[in-house]
Amino acid sequence: MRTADVGGVNVPVDHLIGGRWIGSDQTFPTNSPLDWDHGPLADVARGDQATADAAVGAAAEGFETWGRFTPAERAEVLHRLADLIEANTDEIAMVESLDMAFLLASMRARLVARGALNFRLYADLVVEHAERDWDAKNMRNVVQRMPAGPAVVITPWNAPFMLSTWKLAPALAAGNTVIHKPAEWSPLSAALLAELTIEAGFPDGAYNLVQGIGEEVGAALVADDRVRRITFTGSPVTARHIGRAAAENIVPFTAELGGKGPLMVFADSDLDAAAHRAAWQFDDSGQVCLAGTRLLVEASVRDEFLERFNAHADAMVMGDSRDEATDIAPMVHPEHRAAVDGFVTRAREAGDTILRGGHLVEGSLHYEPTLIEPLSNDSEVVQSEIFGPVLTIQTFSDEAEAIELANSTAYGLSAIVYTTSAERAERVGRALRCGLVWVNTFLVRDLTAPFGGCGISGIGREGGDHALEFHSDLKTLMILNDSVPN
Ligand code: NAD
Repeated sequence: MRTADVGGVNVPVDHLIGGRWIGSDQTFPTNSPLDWDHGPLADVARGDQATADAAVGAAAEGFETWGRFTPAERAEVLHRLADLIEANTDEIAMVESLDMAFLLASMRARLVARGALNFRLYADLVVEHAERDWDAKNMRNVVQRMPAGPAVVITPWNAPFMLSTWKLAPALAAGNTVIHKPAEWSPLSAALLAELTIEAGFPDGAYNLVQGIGEEVGAALVADDRVRRITFTGSPVTARHIGRAAAENIVPFTAELGGKGPLMVFADSDLDAAAHRAAWQFDDSGQVCLAGTRLLVEASVRDEFLERFNAHADAMVMGDSRDEATDIAPMVHPEHRAAVDGFVTRAREAGDTILRGGHLVEGSLHYEPTLIEPLSNDSEVVQSEIFGPVLTIQTFSDEAEAIELANSTAYGLSAIVYTTSAERAERVGRALRCGLVWVNTFLVRDLTAPFGGCGISGIGREGGDHALEFHSDLKTLMILNDSVPN
């Protein structure tokens, strides 16, 4: 097994297939956004068609074992994995912080633990999730949840560890084996997770890790007709490719895609809390699908809101993700930062007003926290996901206009509403066309609640029973009660 030293942590850089670490002839580099020009943190195995074939084969073979484990046996292994994740918090946090520039303190304090919690939650749910069993029409009816088979899990580069656990836990809990393909811009924390699955006692082939480029090994994995589930988080563009492959093989497919969420501020809200929340949408350099990137503010409080927003944004510290004082870490990759800058440059040229920021930061991969007042609701920066520290601000004069603006993009992942009126909160919340609405708060979600989007934000729902259901094939068994068959 080849490894790389990443911040003092030994990280495997090969694929894990059928319980064995296997390399590829070719590799790809992963650089740290904290010190891009230093050269690669690691050279990672670059899977190809043969790698995909081997991984799906191993998952199919592993299914013969893992798929036969009882829910209670699976739960035991999943809880052991959760214990190991917790015990390795510092290592996982450090690797994520170097590979993707995620804030080290957030990883240590919250996100690694939340990853472990995903495995615990599904360990318990799969045991509690009793089969339905009832009598009707002189028959005993039983609904059995059968594991579906090998599942391909494809994850994005932002919050790679947490988002991976989110998808892996229900797939494994349901009894499916997985082939996990992490994103090529932040592949390393998945390798630590792969190591822990061995220690936790998963049978060979239950969890397989394949590293490489999406268009290469990713495309080969989703095209394999032995795969029985595909679950993807990433961009709508990639989802269209994967959806075609899923359709070809008639495979159920979920897609968690981008967002362009509104953050709605009504005049009756706690304006300082709303402004603080709005400024914190610059957190993680705005590389958050759920971010409320369109500030929709009641016209009567626009100026006061802006003043408070600017004060909070000014107080945010740009720096190294390992530094406790840092609020805004560098962006993941120079190419992504250039794409973000492209949006701002085109907005400037189109006549939108840049109210703050709008430039690359020299000497690091940061982008200035940026606020744009668009010429119209049709402006590109209002309608397209930018996935960087770039927000827009628009005003509305009444609730109806606020809802119309909020619902006016092709996306529909999430929304944030600030108001002190309980009636308005419910009225507006119910009128929004999206999968998640937070009122006077943000980001925290009970892991059993459904998660997902409408429109081009995705297909299907994750969270709690919703993901378990997706990963299972349901069978209805009907047994005549009378001794004489009819
Ligand atoms: P991406 O679509 O470029 O890549 C995601 C993954 O797909 C990567 O692992 C990549 O290697 C793989 N991939 C690329 N082409 C493929 C192909 N043809 N076949 C199979 N796999 C392929 O997305 P990204 O840039 O890594 O992530 C950013 C996007 O993810 C943003 O749009 C963001 O909003 C979205 N996102 C959504 C959620 C959510 O839960 N809704 C969460 C995080 C990120």
